[in-house]
Amino acid sequence: MNKARKITEQLTFNTLKDNKMASEINRDMVIENKMDDYEKIDQYNPKKIQELAGHYEQVLHLVGEDPSREGLEKTPERVAKAMQFLTHGYDLDPAKILKSAMFQEDYKQMVIVKDIEIYSMCEHHMLPFVGKAHVAYIPNKYIVGLSKIPRVVDAYARRLQVQERLTTQIKECIQQTLNPMGVAVVIEAHHYCMMMRGIQKQNSVTTTSDFTGAFLTEKTRAEFIHLIGSNLH
Ligand SMILES: [Zn+2]
Repeated sequence: MNKARKITEQLTFNTLKDNKMASEINRDMVIENKMDDYEKIDQYNPKKIQELAGHYEQVLHLVGEDPSREGLEKTPERVAKAMQFLTHGYDLDPAKILKSAMFQEDYKQMVIVKDIEIYSMCEHHMLPFVGKAHVAYIPNKYIVGLSKIPRVVDAYARRLQVQERLTTQIKECIQQTLNPMGVAVVIEAHHYCMMMRGIQKQNSVTTTSDFTGAFLTEKTRAEFIHLIGSNLH
């Protein structure tokens, strides 16, 4: 499923028609994307790209490079496009993503989506932090299409972030939009600003968590922690 999502992201971000293989595999997902605001990222903003590229050319100069040498000729534009992709979450409305697939249902047990890949950027160094999010909620009359939870995670992750705020924003959005009996969010991530610079610790993992409602009780939270740690698949 993650692979399919990645292909779809790529697809919506490049052009919807170019990637033939992906468009065949993911026709349905693309249509689904179009219905929920995800389409906003399917095109680069040329004016912004041009302006960003100008700045990145300056950056290349300033770090001692020659922006006109062959290998770097298109780099400012590529970096500009990459940056626009890495921050496309600003154009998404996470609550709207959830609302686009809410269904009435009597199910009252815990729903967990675990191992959601996270690719975000720390706002202090603009370097990546990558890891996994585990999200759970206990429905209260409404459930949500399962693919929407990773979308909400992405909508907040694809911005300049700190892991703590990312965790809380995901929790708040689900709590406020779905009004469930409780929400749990755990994120584990490696921060490249710690790995590549600063204290250069390659193996440390930062874990953050946030809970509402039923997950504030020890028993429910313990069940959630147990389930995200188990390997049933
Ligand atoms: Zn940082």
